Amino acid sequence: MARNLSVEERFENIEHNLKYISEQIEGAAKKSGRTADDITLMAVTKTVEPIFINHAIDCGIKLIGENKVQEFLSKEEYLKLGNCDAHLIGHLQTNKVKQIVGRVSMIQSVDSLKLAKEISKQSIKNDVVTKCLIEVNVGDEESKSGISFENVMPLIEEIASLEAIKVEGLMAIPPICEDNEKLCEYFHKMNSLFIDIKGKNIDNINMSVLSMGMSGDYREAIECGATMVRVGSSIFGPRLY
Ligand SMILES: *Cc1c(COP(=O)(O)O)cnc(C)c1O
Repeated sequence: MARNLSVEERFENIEHNLKYISEQIEGAAKKSGRTADDITLMAVTKTVEPIFINHAIDCGIKLIGENKVQEFLSKEEYLKLGNCDAHLIGHLQTNKVKQIVGRVSMIQSVDSLKLAKEISKQSIKNDVVTKCLIEVNVGDEESKSGISFENVMPLIEEIASLEAIKVEGLMAIPPICEDNEKLCEYFHKMNSLFIDIKGKNIDNINMSVLSMGMSGDYREAIECGATMVRVGSSIFGPRLY
């Protein structure tokens, strides 16, 4: 269906969707005792062509997220990133770290010490400090990347001593849940861990970002404490692979 829409129509849809999502974010933020300013909306741009990404940026999007190093690098030169940050949100292989360090302002998918060490090493080489989030496999799903819930604290303690990587918070993709209650349990579990780690005031660890919630569940995530939501298809329409 989306295949038949004209560029103009897709532009209009993006505008309309962003307006709607902003209102939803505002409502959910209020329910959690916050305001829309406390929540960052990331536009997830995997499979989306630069012309549409740039339109979202023209409409006020200040942060995009890409899953794959190669896809981001191939689009980068066409994107209006002057006033818009880019984060890597997909699984990162150690051997691709050197290609992405310095190109994005945050890597949200750090889930092992080996990966963190390589990010720190490549960051030193590039004379940058790379911000990152720890990706948590909150539902202990075999199919998903991320570190297990129990191992988050030990990993963070080890990363804290690395020179050129700075932990800014946590990221999670909860399991697909049939009911909201179960889903919110996962979001609450993440929020508790986030608050817990923040309270420990560990040197070099700055718990300011809790990245959770996607097209289907960003409102619930915000109500449970998310500070950043990552929304793709609800902005750009269904992905065509
Ligand atoms: C694709 C993706 C999203 C956005 O998914 P939608 O359901 O399209 O909003 C968010 N986070 C990650 C890590 C993703 O890969």
